[in-house]
Amino acid sequence: MVSSAVTVTVRPEHLRHNLRALRMRRPLLMPVIKADAYGHGAAAVARVLAGEGIDHMAVGTVGEGAFLRRQGHDAFLLALLGLIHDEDAALAAACRITPLVHDAESLARCAAQARSVSAASPLSVAVKFDTGMSRLGFPVEDAPAVAEWLRGLPEVKPVLVMSHLAASDDPRHDAFTGEQVSRFGRAAGALRAVFPTIKTSLTNSPGLLVWPDCAGDLARPGLALYGGNPLHGTERAELGAGLLPVMEVTAPVLCVRHVAAGACIGYGCSFRAPRPMRVAVVGAGYADGYPRILARRAAVVIRGERAPLVGRVCMQMCMVDVTHIAEVASGDMAYLLGGVGAQAVRPEELAHWWGTVPYEVFCMLGRNRRRLDGGAETWRNSAVFPGALRESL
Ligand SMILES: *Cc1c(COP(=O)(O)O)cnc(C)c1O
Repeated sequence: MVSSAVTVTVRPEHLRHNLRALRMRRPLLMPVIKADAYGHGAAAVARVLAGEGIDHMAVGTVGEGAFLRRQGHDAFLLALLGLIHDEDAALAAACRITPLVHDAESLARCAAQARSVSAASPLSVAVKFDTGMSRLGFPVEDAPAVAEWLRGLPEVKPVLVMSHLAASDDPRHDAFTGEQVSRFGRAAGALRAVFPTIKTSLTNSPGLLVWPDCAGDLARPGLALYGGNPLHGTERAELGAGLLPVMEVTAPVLCVRHVAAGACIGYGCSFRAPRPMRVAVVGAGYADGYPRILARRAAVVIRGERAPLVGRVCMQMCMVDVTHIAEVASGDMAYLLGGVGAQAVRPEELAHWWGTVPYEVFCMLGRNRRRLDGGAETWRNSAVFPGALRESL
């Protein structure tokens, strides 16, 4: 069984805060909890959202949706990746999960599979259009034909028409985003002409923050819900500034040692102490999703102060300079993400050191052992602990 020294703490009160802030922009949301809720734990996150009255959620695979159904969730569940595995159609029908259809092949397959599971009622589907991202989606020009085709397929029932914005976080691409919005309007109009009660859904987190009126019936925020600011580094950063990070990641100090000037620290002797130093060994490394690229770039927070990494990041350990921090001792907690006070490491800052975006930071670090802040409950990550333990999350 895989275990590590790293602990992920998820803060439900911050999740509630972010959700309420987003609902002031747009009351009807379909929060995105794919990929184990961006590493925060889909079971716990869905529980908090349901407690706040959220009744639409988007997952990635049908299996992720089935997992939530088994937890007793009653919400409308959209599977953003559509039907993938052979068992997905039957699972979607049995668990009332709405898969995406996005091209002729996926729609034909979906209809055939829905027919073969011969459920009493048609399988609800969401119809995705490509308005400019060139990922999943029917071409917008085909919308009238797609609507006609769907009309002739009694085994599926389109309940949602959607698309995805490619660059709504970047003001330099506003014209492109505007074009996506108007293309989506055309596709949604063609579907609504045939299916008048179909719902619409367009915007992700930045789209919701910047253009709440373009969301459609259901906005689909992900990152902002978890407290990442998708507009960080742009002139619109203020719009996402009040969001509170939901994930905090800590690892214990394993020992503190005095290092003489000139001594080598860590693999490859890549770092030599320029002066006598006090160095703390922290129990987090690349096996825990704390990557080697962070060497010489990142810092952790110990006793409210920044301790910069020295030497290379190892598999389950890294070393930090604590010369300037009084009384650091083994057993102290080092915050890889978050921390108490002004020195807390923001998701955007860690992402910057890492050369990535907060999305990847959350997904990678979220694979560690997790606990819910304020609850007695500690639970294991489903990706690391399969089977029975996964069920008990
Ligand atoms: C992941 C995802 C979202 C959420 O995007 P954020 O930028 O995290 O808000 C919305 N829609 C689709 C289709 C997605 O894949």
